[in-house]
Amino acid sequence: MSVQRWAASLAVVGFCVGAAGCAGGSQSPPPAQTTVTQDRPAPPSDGATAPTHEAAIAPTSGVTLAQKSDAALAPMKFDSSRAWDDLRKQVGFGPRPSGSAALNDTRNYILAQLKTAGIDAKQQIFMAMTPLGEMMMSNIIATIPGRRRERIIIASHYDTKRSPNFRFVGASDGASSTAALLELGRALKGRQNEFTIELLFLDGEEAVNWDWRDPDNTYGSRYYVAAAQKANALSSIKALILLDMIGDRDLAIRRDANSTPWLVDIVWDAAARIGQRGVFSNQLTTIEDDHIPFVRAGVPSVDIIDLDYPQWHTAQDDLEHVSARSLQAVGDVVLAAIPDIEKKLAGNRE
Ligand SMILES: [Zn+2]
Repeated sequence: MSVQRWAASLAVVGFCVGAAGCAGGSQSPPPAQTTVTQDRPAPPSDGATAPTHEAAIAPTSGVTLAQKSDAALAPMKFDSSRAWDDLRKQVGFGPRPSGSAALNDTRNYILAQLKTAGIDAKQQIFMAMTPLGEMMMSNIIATIPGRRRERIIIASHYDTKRSPNFRFVGASDGASSTAALLELGRALKGRQNEFTIELLFLDGEEAVNWDWRDPDNTYGSRYYVAAAQKANALSSIKALILLDMIGDRDLAIRRDANSTPWLVDIVWDAAARIGQRGVFSNQLTTIEDDHIPFVRAGVPSVDIIDLDYPQWHTAQDDLEHVSARSLQAVGDVVLAAIPDIEKKLAGNRE
């Protein structure tokens, strides 16, 4: 997503120890695979490497285990074949930068999918001041009512990087997490949730200019948090789970040092419990993303992102380099973590 994020990521895994120590600069990272593959899962050998990854992948048993503790809950199943379809549709709209007709098509697609799932949604339209002038943007806020009005937000940006020099379709960077968010909504809609679940589709995460320089990024999340503060609604947001770039066929997600430790622990513990320890690595990284405005506002947040993706911000971030299996892994982990997050939040309150 951002050069800064690459640099931060690389610094932690040992490619460079600070700006002065980064030979070649952060624009040309050395081959990332040499030091970060040690705890990755073995490549799939059951046909999941086929280019289109259309096949449905069975959810891991961990989701079922998580639900056995509460028989009243409807089973939650993340269907990666449906999520894959959502991903493919978005890529089919072409490049989708903020303000584009293709992003409007994407927005309409998201809204139609939410409606089909029976999930109420509204748009939060705002004007963003960008290096290209004022730009109309729109977050989509979808709500699944729970027993409590206090809410847990699951979020993804749905815009793609504006690229003047090549056709960028963002199969992982934009489409993957948006697809997973839609499918998580379908799964959570069928459950009696303790907390209200809000699905937040953010516009304008990407910098309008090529480089990631504040404040040219995270337009949607900054607007959302400012609006919540203004409406005195911030205190009802109990946690944020941010998804970003989760489509990589060679998925490896590190703990983000900017995220809230107890929330990271719950997600990573859930991953270990359902057999996804290989994907959710204990290596540390430091990420700037849409969670930062929430963290600064005091909302416990976790960013689930694989920025170690060689196709990041290139023309090759396409269907060939993402997989339904990766969507399944993240979907299963989030569904396994939700009951634990609810228990922790309910405990905090009582
Ligand atoms: Zn990006």
